[in-house]
Amino acid sequence: PPLVSLRQVSKRFANGTLALQGMSLDCGEHDFISFLGPSGCGKSTALRLIAGLTRSSSGEIAWSRTNSGASTSDRELGFVFQEPTLMPWAKVFDNVWLPLKLAGMSRDAAAPVVTQVLEMVGLSRFADVYPRELSGGMKMRVSIARALVTRPRLLLMDEPFAALDEMTRIKLNNDLLSIWREHRFSVIFVTHSVYESVYLSNRIVVMAPRPGRVVDEIRIDEPYPRG
Ligand code: ADP
Ligand code: ADP
Repeated sequence: PPLVSLRQVSKRFANGTLALQGMSLDCGEHDFISFLGPSGCGKSTALRLIAGLTRSSSGEIAWSRTNSGASTSDRELGFVFQEPTLMPWAKVFDNVWLPLKLAGMSRDAAAPVVTQVLEMVGLSRFADVYPRELSGGMKMRVSIARALVTRPRLLLMDEPFAALDEMTRIKLNNDLLSIWREHRFSVIFVTHSVYESVYLSNRIVVMAPRPGRVVDEIRIDEPYPRG
């Protein structure tokens, strides 16, 4: 069964803007889906609806059940924004620990997992530095580690690399793909870059604005040569 299903989901904001109209989508296990389209086509709105950060005006968003019978919820979702939104007063380690801390896990208990995700994103040697000492690309790596530390089944990324220079962006795209291949979570990746969507995803959901809506879906079964 799909991890999450959208059925005819629409979002109209209080000011009357129809940001998203009638979106339907099944996101399966180990999918890497891109939402591709120009500014204003509802990509962020769709992602925020899936994340539960905003409520739909109509339609249905259904999560698959986990083994424990619980609905997929917070801890099974990771979210990465374009701004890394790190706590400046906390070391890299403590920034990544935060979601586990909020779930009641002590620093010691969380240490093995935090260490492991820092390794995953290539930041093993930076656990004890503060965010201000890091480049933009490295801050983004911290943000990805923080999103993955709870081992979510679905990682939502809202134009994560758009503010980075091209070399950094290419490197992050490569590394994100390797991590995704190895760890088998699903990804929904918002971008207005055709390059990124083709390089990264196995499904491209093409969207258009006014009103925001899906106009096509492209499946890439034999993906672009990866790695
Ligand atoms: P994208 O991520 O593709 O750039 P958005 O989902 O951010 O698109 O926005 C889709 C449309 O909804 C745009 O016209 C945008 O201005 C509008 N919109 C987004 N957020 C709000 C809001 N909080 N209130 C009113 N309109 C909004
Ligand atoms: P992005 O394109 O990176 O998604 P936006 O500029 O579309 O960023 O949106 C930034 C924030 O402003 C979002 O929280 C969005 O919901 C809100 N927003 C966007 N457009 C409008 C709007 N027309 N009216 C009110 N809020 C908006």
